Amino acid sequence: MTREEAEDSRDDMLIDGCEPQQRLDNAVPDGFDPNYLKVYYGKLFPHADIFKWMSYGNDGKHPGCDQSYFGRREFSFTLDNDIYLRFQSFNSASELENSIKEKCPFKIDIGPVYTVDPAKRHAYAQAGENVFTPVERELVFDIDITDYDDIRYCCSGADVCLDCWPLMTIAIKVIDTALRDDFGFNHILWVYSGRRGVHCWVCDGKARRLNNEQRAAIADYFRLYKGNENSNKKVSLVGPALHPFLVRSYIDVLKDFFEEKLLRSQNLFSNEERYEKILEMIPDESITSELRGKWQENRRSSISKEDINVVRWEQVKHLLQSGKQKAQGLRRCVEEIVFSFTYPRLDMEVSRHMNHLLKAPFCVHPKTGRVCVPIDPNHCEEFDPTSVPTLSKLLGELNMMGGLRAEGDNEWDRSSIGKSVSYFRSSFLQPLLKSCKEEIESSYGAKVQQSKNSMSW
Ligand SMILES: [Zn+2]
Repeated sequence: MTREEAEDSRDDMLIDGCEPQQRLDNAVPDGFDPNYLKVYYGKLFPHADIFKWMSYGNDGKHPGCDQSYFGRREFSFTLDNDIYLRFQSFNSASELENSIKEKCPFKIDIGPVYTVDPAKRHAYAQAGENVFTPVERELVFDIDITDYDDIRYCCSGADVCLDCWPLMTIAIKVIDTALRDDFGFNHILWVYSGRRGVHCWVCDGKARRLNNEQRAAIADYFRLYKGNENSNKKVSLVGPALHPFLVRSYIDVLKDFFEEKLLRSQNLFSNEERYEKILEMIPDESITSELRGKWQENRRSSISKEDINVVRWEQVKHLLQSGKQKAQGLRRCVEEIVFSFTYPRLDMEVSRHMNHLLKAPFCVHPKTGRVCVPIDPNHCEEFDPTSVPTLSKLLGELNMMGGLRAEGDNEWDRSSIGKSVSYFRSSFLQPLLKSCKEEIESSYGAKVQQSKNSMSW
């Protein structure tokens, strides 16, 4: 039984037990159900906000708005029975909303904005015009906890718990800081993928207009994880000095996380198999055999009351960083070990190509029933994937609200995704649309000025 199934059955037992009458009446059986999804899309999914976001200010009245913009965006729907509808496009907020409500997709993916309406791409092809190509797309990142399976001992595969989730939290911190400070991006949305990872959408105009080559260059900037299944050395830090981005990540985030959390939460040195994995990253036989000797002895006596992982890590550091170890390579080893266990592991292919699809925020994950809610990078350590609202929880809340809703209220306001929708609006969407408006106005102004200048010649 997986952790999730265990949780589910606990919930069921509560519902079957002596719960108050009100709870019984409003409880909705747990799990994912297409009928619940219909209600979710009908009452809770923030259709209008997704439309506003994907329009980037072009739905306004200003003459600089590109009215065709939203209609050139690809959406794709995964329906029940894995029916996959690609190249869906919509010309208005209501078209988008009606289609979602009617088709009730298990998953909604968002693709790029093309040169022409993606639904009409064949017509253009028949006309002999080869004009169907992506022109804009958010810069996206995908981080999945299954890529950390060789360094987390609490879970594997799709499972995730509060001991390994912090690996995602620090990935958010490291990437978010670099995107803002090193690349100057401002409009960044982090979203829980609904099960085992996070997605990042960089939505600044200059990010959306990057070509594939530029995207690949940014992905490479973050690339450090060079390992494969057969190599224990996942990270190799070469050169006389570390890149400032890596130094900052190490000092501000990774080192403390490794020493204060991960060492103990994953018991990195607790047995021979685990410490051998770390010793294999140290390319000096005299050091590894000295440590190995100590630890094998230590197991027999075990006098120390201190945490064994902390003690052993201090011994590793002491030996590698002591004055005797002149070679820069060995001092660097401490950093290499920390990076190997903590540095973000990105799915590079997702970031490299404009036409990669990515699941839309506020979708419901069909396996967990959890809503893909935004994560505030400034408070990402507070985010708990196990307490994210599920479809059945939301439906229970809707039942509870019943007829109490006042006219004009949004249903999600008082549901447990209320906070997520208001975060999305106030912290992400409003500042984004403000800058889109400014951008549209100034580029229109420049165009008008240009045509005035050319007329006066
Ligand atoms: Zn775990």
